[in-house]
Amino acid sequence: MQSRGVGGIGISTTAGACTRDFSRMNAGGRKRVAVVVGAGPAGLTAALELLRRSDITPVVFEADTQVGGISKTINYRGNRMDLGGHRFFSKSDWVMRWWQDILPLAQDQAPSGQGLQITYQSQSRHLPPPTPTASDPDAVMLVRRRLSRIFHRRRFFDYPLKLNAHTLKSLGLLEALRIGLSYGQAQLARRSPESSLEDFLVNRFGERLYRTFFEGYTEKVWGVPCRDISAEWGAQRIKGLTVTKAVLNAMARPFRAVADTSQKGTETSLIERFLYPKFGPGQMWETAARRIGALGGAIHLGHRIVGIEHEDALVRAVRVRDEAGSVRRVPCDELISTMAVCDLTRCLKPADSSVARIADRLPYRDFMTAGLLVRNMNSIARLQPGRPPDNNGMPPDNWIYIQEPEVRIGRLQIFNNWSPAMVADPATIWLGLEYFCKEGDDLWSMDDGRFLDFAAGELQRIGLIERSEVLDGTLVRVPKAYPAYFGGYGEFARVRAYLNGFRNLYPVGRNGMHRYNNQDHSMLAANGAVSSIINGGFGKSDIWRINEEEAYQEEIGADELPKPA
Ligand SMILES: Cc1cc2nc3c(=O)[nH]c(=O)nc-3n(C[C@H](O)[C@H](O)[C@H](O)COP(=O)(O)OP(=O)(O)OC[C@H]3O[C@@H](n4cnc5c(N)ncnc54)[C@H](O)[C@@H]3O)c2cc1C
Repeated sequence: MQSRGVGGIGISTTAGACTRDFSRMNAGGRKRVAVVVGAGPAGLTAALELLRRSDITPVVFEADTQVGGISKTINYRGNRMDLGGHRFFSKSDWVMRWWQDILPLAQDQAPSGQGLQITYQSQSRHLPPPTPTASDPDAVMLVRRRLSRIFHRRRFFDYPLKLNAHTLKSLGLLEALRIGLSYGQAQLARRSPESSLEDFLVNRFGERLYRTFFEGYTEKVWGVPCRDISAEWGAQRIKGLTVTKAVLNAMARPFRAVADTSQKGTETSLIERFLYPKFGPGQMWETAARRIGALGGAIHLGHRIVGIEHEDALVRAVRVRDEAGSVRRVPCDELISTMAVCDLTRCLKPADSSVARIADRLPYRDFMTAGLLVRNMNSIARLQPGRPPDNNGMPPDNWIYIQEPEVRIGRLQIFNNWSPAMVADPATIWLGLEYFCKEGDDLWSMDDGRFLDFAAGELQRIGLIERSEVLDGTLVRVPKAYPAYFGGYGEFARVRAYLNGFRNLYPVGRNGMHRYNNQDHSMLAANGAVSSIINGGFGKSDIWRINEEEAYQEEIGADELPKPA
């Protein structure tokens, strides 16, 4: 059996190994087997929970060569990239506990050794710090203060936007006045009916603020105009956030407790502190994968599910293709799938061809991150007087929304500020230049070397770096990063009904449910699937309610959103 060390995890990668494990399990008739498709947050949560809570054996097949799904961390020559910037924050007690069980809080993150007061979802809890001797100083979570700003007209603006002296000065008094007037107008003459995202945003922010900060970015993210996106989508993502609330929040900020990682009663787009694994989000999932291995679960990397056999509304087996191209049949008692709904449906080959047609038309947005290692950035002191830069010009932000119409970059991550351990040489700045795109479009198809050159040129054009400061770079393409809620999504209920018809099939996760899930929602859905399997299928349909009706909508929505968000 070959073993591939991925992120420090030795996981079998041969189809032979998987077949051998499998036949052994069934031979004794001792255990039921659940095949889990995908080793992202949802798949790994499902596998670990099955091992913890049942005698069902999970067998995970992962198409990629590392675990973590889109929450993985890429290690490029010792510099680590987080694809998107993953904040660990949940209003679910269960998720917060689960994360801390895998990676406890670092000793030095808790004030005077007393632990940390975390308040979320109307509950407050004191988290004890790990004992210094018991914990691995590297296997920990850090508490990070969020700083993300908008870069517009070569100036930085606070995010969320605040009506303070700095914003007024940066906008110029005349422009600020125009924005204020336009906001007033929008309040007096609200667009009705509020049918598009454009209507939704104009009603809450005024036309001028919308055009300045939302319109261009949204179109970059989704590739379609705001007037073609439904208002319902905006309501789900930035529910309750308005100019007035942003201003009130800014005024209340100084009075908040320093050690409070969340703000009960505060809209999610205004959360300011989050937990973060020392080596990026992938560390959480690599550690979880090791636990799964230690408890007897199997994770097969480089194995893609390419077919599903079923009869009488029951999944009987999956077909798995390994990296060498050989396809094997693996029988199963339960199937937990985090693969994209369109792929799952294709594997199931529905008799009703309209179901397959709808699933094939589900829209996605894809994503690319160019990692650039630079020696220095241009001093932001020049760009924002009064705020001293680091010696090498590195801004203090975790990420920056780029709202400059002449470039295509959407967001800039500064990985040093997520965790210092993300960077091999602390004297360098490790940047992630994020582009929203469509598989096969001009950005996606650009040769890697050309893309890195193009990306560095964009940062130079807007004055953030000099090209000559770039030391190294790498490019990561992330297909299906964003399940989108327009186009074919309108008929999704029919696909969902079809999938629900299988008694032992559990589609969970982000692309698995075609839902804008954060890690916590994916985990909750996976945990729901495990509970339902243990309870003989009871509660199966409730899984779809996760992240559907909650008052809390993941902040990622706000951040991935059409920013500023
Ligand atoms: C830009 C960006 C920023 C984000 N920021 C945050 C954040 O701040 N906080 C947060 O909590 N979440 C954030 N998220 C969301 C988070 O990344 C996802 O919610 C999470 O990774 C979803 O987990 P999942 O297991 O459902 O799916 P995925 O992570 O997509 O994992 C699915 C896995 O299934 C595998 N797979 C697919 N098809 C097959 C097949 N046929 N056979 C075998 N394997 C297969 C894939 O390779 C993948 O590894 C962000 C996402 C993006 C894109």
